[in-house]
Amino acid sequence: MLEPTLAADDAASLIFNLPDYRVTAAVLLPDGARHITVETTFPPGCPSCGVVAFRVKERRCQRLRDIPVAGRVVLLWDKRRWFCDEYLCERKSFCEATPQVPRRARSTRRLRQSVLEAVITSGRAVSETAVAFGISWWLVQQIIGDAALRLPDVDLLAPRMLGIDEHRYRSVRFFQDPGTKAWIRYEPWMTTIVDLDTGQVLGIVDGRDRKGVGNWLFARPLDWRLGVQVVAIDPSAAFRKALRMWLPRTAVSVDLFHVTMLANDMLTTVRQGLSQQVRGRRGRTTDPAWANRMLLLKANENLSERGHHRLAGVFAADDPTGSLQAAWQVKEQLRTLLSTGSLEDAAAAKTALADLVERAAMPETNRLYRTVCRWWAEIEVLIVTGATTAKVEANNTAIKHIKRTARGYRNPINYKSRILLRSAARMAA
Ligand SMILES: [Zn+2]
Repeated sequence: MLEPTLAADDAASLIFNLPDYRVTAAVLLPDGARHITVETTFPPGCPSCGVVAFRVKERRCQRLRDIPVAGRVVLLWDKRRWFCDEYLCERKSFCEATPQVPRRARSTRRLRQSVLEAVITSGRAVSETAVAFGISWWLVQQIIGDAALRLPDVDLLAPRMLGIDEHRYRSVRFFQDPGTKAWIRYEPWMTTIVDLDTGQVLGIVDGRDRKGVGNWLFARPLDWRLGVQVVAIDPSAAFRKALRMWLPRTAVSVDLFHVTMLANDMLTTVRQGLSQQVRGRRGRTTDPAWANRMLLLKANENLSERGHHRLAGVFAADDPTGSLQAAWQVKEQLRTLLSTGSLEDAAAAKTALADLVERAAMPETNRLYRTVCRWWAEIEVLIVTGATTAKVEANNTAIKHIKRTARGYRNPINYKSRILLRSAARMAA
């Protein structure tokens, strides 16, 4: 004969499917609400001595919040208080608790789990989730906050490579100083610190200056800080200063994408200046240089045969001073430099870059070269380790998505816990 493997094998309990509970009654009220009454099938172990109890002292009905089951339900738990019959135990009686509804909980674990999945994994807005589960906005936010408290301790991780990058947490605001009546521009920035090997967000700090990152690093244990070998940053002098202070033995690498962007910005400035100089106005669709402005920024090795041809045409038709081509060559040489595999090759590429900059003889190219020289140590680390902040940028994209779903955040603590939880959830997946 087959033995039932579930304690509750009646149809109602199977359909309701709340582990360790049996449905004892279901009532349809005149207003259309359904009251589901359950009792536990979980063995009532005394929390002090662990001995299983057999004598019920009293029963009390507790209302619980639960997920909708084929529509909204009102869940009532016919909760029992048991006598502890173990004569050595000091506790005379206790209330029952289950993994689904621990002591003092007023909602089921499956509700909390579903809410977390909706917000963190599926990226639904808190307000939308609250409506879908028939609970308050505050409860959803509290569930997320509780989960954030249970996040693994950053200090127990041992990251080898860190990436640091900033992003704007909300739009720029202006505040009027009540004393001087002057308007103050306020840019709310936050800095994300990411483990480059795993892509996990380790911390989010306010601001994008030396203080925020410095304080966060200072709060880590010494072993943790000594374990970090490389940190990738965008060319920000503030971050570099904080790193020299708190991670003095760590190699700092500058991000590839940001350096390439500096070169592209330089080329764009030259193109715009040329248009003003030759035509006395901004570029138009009919100007070859303007029409091919994206082609100019494209990597040389990614250009098609047709692309090369069009670019040559731009330099022939729309570059009377030759400065556009000179700037383009500087940009391409910097990209070649960044893709070299060894320090010798990089040094040779830097000499070639210096020649091109000297021949170009423009303030824009000179400024770019000065930046390259100022960040040369960090560029060498980039070439040797390949540590870039690409994973931080990937997280920043995800962060933008979080912000967009929520239509902005007013509470920075809620915002930070959402980012950390999402990142941790992706790690676990
Ligand atoms: Zn006991």
